[in-house]
Amino acid sequence: MKENILLNLETIRQRIQKACEKAGRRHQEVKLLLATKTVSAEHIKTALENGTTLIAENKVQELKEKYDALKDIPHENHFIGHLQTNKIKDILKYDVVCVQSLDRLDLAEKLHQRLLSEGKTIEVLIQVNTSQEESKFGVHPDNAVELTRKVSEFSTLKVKGLMTIGLFSAETEKVRTCFKILKNLQQEIILQNIANVDMKDLSMGMSGDLETAIEEGATIVRVGTAVFGARMYPDSFYWNEGKGV
Ligand SMILES: *Cc1c(COP(=O)(O)O)cnc(C)c1O
Repeated sequence: MKENILLNLETIRQRIQKACEKAGRRHQEVKLLLATKTVSAEHIKTALENGTTLIAENKVQELKEKYDALKDIPHENHFIGHLQTNKIKDILKYDVVCVQSLDRLDLAEKLHQRLLSEGKTIEVLIQVNTSQEESKFGVHPDNAVELTRKVSEFSTLKVKGLMTIGLFSAETEKVRTCFKILKNLQQEIILQNIANVDMKDLSMGMSGDLETAIEEGATIVRVGTAVFGARMYPDSFYWNEGKGV
């Protein structure tokens, strides 16, 4: 397994490099984030000891379970799952530096209150439902600018960009449309010049579609399967949680 992870990491780096070349971008512009849901701390450790530094969980429970085993290895934790407000204090306790899945005002409000009381700040990305599927989380594209504006008013939340999952499809052009929506929203928000909002990051692209995402401007690609192998649970287990669909 260890050898597989190392080989897979090398393959992913080459894919990122090639996609950047094709898009006329520098590979340093694109960060590799490892999506570590269901992956054991031991395997994550292997990746962290071999040139990766950015990891993210979807569930607070998994973050908690792996925390001790990983805390002495230098790395950065993002959060990419649906965040329930009653789990906010855990996010802070386990050193998450960026919540990429901020998708609603009440979550922003509660996060802000907690951060204020702890004297902390946190980075956030606004998650947009670019595929507009009922089953996915994220703010509707039409409401993304307004949500960004409202979130920017909370002094403890540092908006760093946008995140999307996009359509899960073999039809590249349909997937590309989702990424273009995110890019266009980024441009629109930049033009509005909102105080306390930095639109530098576009977190989009996963194992199957990272090339398309990089062509459309991704600065963070989130990769799980292509590094750690297939997961036992369907992604719907992580993505639809609480939506009852
Ligand atoms: C699981 C997950 C990924 C990675 O997906 P793969 O297809 O395994 O690369 C990226 N983003 C989010 C939000 C995820 O839940």
